[in-house]
Amino acid sequence: MPTEKYSFKTEVNQLLDLMIHSLYSHKEVGIREIISNASDAIDKARYESLTNPEIVVPKEGWKIRIHADKDAGTLMISDNGIGMTREEAIEALGTIAHSGTKEFLAFLKEKNMENSPDLIGQFGVGFYSAFMIANKVTVLSRKANSKDDTAVKWESTADGSFVVDHFVKDSSGTDIILHLHDDEKKYLDDWQIRNVISKYSDYIEYPIVMDVEREEDSALEKGKKVKILKEEQINSGKAIWLRDRSDIKENEYNEFYKHISHDFSDPLKAIHYHAEGTTDFISLLFIPAHAPLDIFYKEFRLGPALYVKKVQIMDHCEELIPPYLRFIRGVVDSSDLPLNVSREILQNNRQVTIMKNNITRKVLDALAEMKMNDSENFLAFSREFGRVLKEGIHYDHARKEVIADLLLFSSTTSGEAVTRTLDDYIAGMKDGQSDIYYMTGTSIREMADSPYLEALREKEYEVLFLTDDIDDLIFGGFEYKGKKFKSILKGDITLDRTGEKRKSAEQFDKLIDFMKAILSDDVKEVRLSGRLKDSPCCLVGDEGDLDPRMEKMLKSMGQEVPVQKKILEINPEHPIFTSMKELFEGDKSIPLLEEYSRLLLDQALLLAGSRPKDPARFSRYLSQLMVQGARRKLPAEHGDTT
Ligand code: ADP
Repeated sequence: MPTEKYSFKTEVNQLLDLMIHSLYSHKEVGIREIISNASDAIDKARYESLTNPEIVVPKEGWKIRIHADKDAGTLMISDNGIGMTREEAIEALGTIAHSGTKEFLAFLKEKNMENSPDLIGQFGVGFYSAFMIANKVTVLSRKANSKDDTAVKWESTADGSFVVDHFVKDSSGTDIILHLHDDEKKYLDDWQIRNVISKYSDYIEYPIVMDVEREEDSALEKGKKVKILKEEQINSGKAIWLRDRSDIKENEYNEFYKHISHDFSDPLKAIHYHAEGTTDFISLLFIPAHAPLDIFYKEFRLGPALYVKKVQIMDHCEELIPPYLRFIRGVVDSSDLPLNVSREILQNNRQVTIMKNNITRKVLDALAEMKMNDSENFLAFSREFGRVLKEGIHYDHARKEVIADLLLFSSTTSGEAVTRTLDDYIAGMKDGQSDIYYMTGTSIREMADSPYLEALREKEYEVLFLTDDIDDLIFGGFEYKGKKFKSILKGDITLDRTGEKRKSAEQFDKLIDFMKAILSDDVKEVRLSGRLKDSPCCLVGDEGDLDPRMEKMLKSMGQEVPVQKKILEINPEHPIFTSMKELFEGDKSIPLLEEYSRLLLDQALLLAGSRPKDPARFSRYLSQLMVQGARRKLPAEHGDTT
């Protein structure tokens, strides 16, 4: 095979550019990423060796070897894992495969932070981070099942291209040779290497070894010391989840979390336990501090990594966690499942169902504990994942109250702060109040000023403000501790105050019938309102109607939404209706009555966040009224001044 030169894909060049100009002070994460890849490559080989006789466990055992060559200025990280063919190397090391890297680039773009290279190190962006410390990287790789010693040599100086060549390698696996920048040569020192490994890679479960120079008594000459090279393991090497909880330091949990999640911040919480009984497994799960950018995408890969007796089977096992807990990252290691477990087996396995139930309960318990004892972190959790968690109310019937108990709301009581729990709400319910009132909308500030709240406010009933797109779907019809959720935008709100008013309602009957006839194309009913106090009117839906927020969302997604006529509610206490009634009783044919009816509908549309039906007509009416109002005022003012 000839030497071939390839150009990197554009996004790789962008990334390399950032990498090279990175001012990030912890450049050693480049070493962490290479070791992490070596460990993944061994995972793959080990898993394949279970079923593929062509792949055998190396005589020396699965191992990662570090070799520093001070004369050449190179640091080599070798593994005896799965290796790459020539084609695989071209594909894997010429494009961006790493999910964390894609996310990183999207993050920079979204936040407009292309000029903040210091973020790179925190993200951990895979193979290419090697170029933070090396000006040239050479990769020598031989596929684990290759019949001969044919291998591939891949090399790049990050100048926009890489070269691949034929190579002869006597064992399978991959050597990554970092030709270090002059000012990064410190990573050739033993103690620096140890430092980096114990800081970032101690959790790697395969031995990371290095030849270390030691002085020993000479066998030949008594009393004389000789220098010899001895292989030494420099990581502790035990899978972190198998270690005793009390021996694990917080930063070890944090580093392990970053390794498996590609997240750049520490997690909010680690949940580590051994489940025994009907099924035996160990879980090490994490609640992240930040939602990944793709958490609402269909392609989002959920579920912890599944291990069976310490062998990684898959990196995301979605059968182990309900989608409403998809933010959870971690590892589950089962002692009971067969090593050759397949997706089909997982989907219908009783053990797996038990595990999933157990994990769900543990995570919800951990959240409840966080809510009780660590309100600051719980608030952060709610901000990031409340929207995901609440999906569980809809999907997990048996646990819906437990989940609802973990939600924080803003309301007429808390204002914009998102701090109210449903128990707080119930504790604050007034005598005679039987329902939990909520309102949906995009902005809490706008909702807080809404006329829909007037009568409830007067009675000091708390109203929850819900701003998530799915809220009406989740809470419409939901009951918490026997209290029904009721949208104040829909259905009839019958507070006591309407009782007494209803007595005088009949006097408006005829006017209402008149308005109904005029507006019949646009509204399905005109009725007296129980929810208004100061405003003249508002539009509401029927109990079973789509929520206005939902309606808008579906429309924006291009879905056809059946036209739903709304109900126009009028406030008989507002003076406009006394005036209209007088006009109506005098001469019901005057055009003003029709104009006013339409103007009232337009106002109600505006208050509901919609456009007036005919904005030009609305503006014309309004100007006319303003002119009339001004005329009435002018002569009097003239009189005052003259
Ligand atoms: P990721 O490891 O997240 O996929 P990287 O950028 O770190 O992304 O690596 C890209 C790809 O290169 C890997 O997916 C893998 O296919 C290949 N690769 C990297 N290092 C090794 C290695 N030591 N052995 C085998 N393949 C490797």
